[in-house]
Amino acid sequence: MSAPLLQVEGLVKHFPVRRGVLGRVTGAVRAVDGVDLQIDAGETLGVVGESGCGKSTLGRLALRLIERTRGRVLFEGEDLGTLDAVQLRSRRRALQIIFQDPYSSLNPRMTVGQTLAEPLMLHGLHTGRHRERVAELLHTVGLAPEHAARYPHEFSGGQRQRVGIARALAAEPRLIVCDEAVSALDVSVQAQVVNLLQDLQRQFGLAYMFIAHDLAVVKHIADRIAVMYLGRIVELADRRALFAQPRHPYTQALLSAIPLPDPALRHDRVLLAGDVPSPLDPPGGCHFHTRCPYARPLCSQVSPPLEREGGHAVACHFWREIAAPVTLPLQSARAPSRLRLEQLQSAFTAASAPASAV
Ligand code: SF4
Repeated sequence: MSAPLLQVEGLVKHFPVRRGVLGRVTGAVRAVDGVDLQIDAGETLGVVGESGCGKSTLGRLALRLIERTRGRVLFEGEDLGTLDAVQLRSRRRALQIIFQDPYSSLNPRMTVGQTLAEPLMLHGLHTGRHRERVAELLHTVGLAPEHAARYPHEFSGGQRQRVGIARALAAEPRLIVCDEAVSALDVSVQAQVVNLLQDLQRQFGLAYMFIAHDLAVVKHIADRIAVMYLGRIVELADRRALFAQPRHPYTQALLSAIPLPDPALRHDRVLLAGDVPSPLDPPGGCHFHTRCPYARPLCSQVSPPLEREGGHAVACHFWREIAAPVTLPLQSARAPSRLRLEQLQSAFTAASAPASAV
């Protein structure tokens, strides 16, 4: 069996909190608190969780855009943490990122043509034919060659995200971290961009780490899904298994918030008490115990390990006793599908539910 494209081992990122004129360290935000995962070539791993759960920090750590506190990130078996600046720049060609807000990630003073030519120059690609390559990249993401002369402010949000995708593709990557890449877009544009990402994956054999807070979107693109809560993965499984038999109470709550397309199907909504605790001072034991409807005394004392059974991993002391309260339609068990506008609209209905619900 070949080695995974990306392997994350015991990854920890604590951001120090400084106070006073001397900048004394008074605490730490535990953004990522011991994460293990892997992504194979051509695979999409969805990473979901509420705002502040550490998923975007995980994406940046995976590309070494920020330095880890502990742990390792191996890309094609090589520890990225051991590379010097020159080696890292050459590896970065294979590791790209698409940000949530394409407007802030594109230089407003550069035309789109200049923006796309920059990575070609940086990595010494297609020397002598940058103009043609830029036109190819624009065509690949559904834009026209004449768009190369325009500036970012002359595009719509969806078009700017296509430029962001083209810039990531320019380096001819193997893995792209899509960090909330469709979250800021209108619902109809979200579907187009998700479908474009799927087409590009098939065309170029790309792997994605697809970070989102919305399971309804992730289920259309991900092969496997990792659910994060307060810096830890609480469940990691094949998409089909996660939707058919969610084992962690937090995953069950997230899934129960997704409306079913068939009115004949019903599932009980799992409402969680309170807000997500601060990552500055997360609860002891199982981080989720302050909101978990099944919490027992052991939960506040002992942190449950991520227990693997086959390809399905869950971090809960009592998952075997907790029946999945979610009934999902068969459609959820099919292969990743084309995302339709009405499916996203129904997801937005769920997103506008009361604040106490996930
Ligand atoms: Fe809930 Fe306890 Fe399981 Fe944590 S370990 S998810 S608190 S039952």
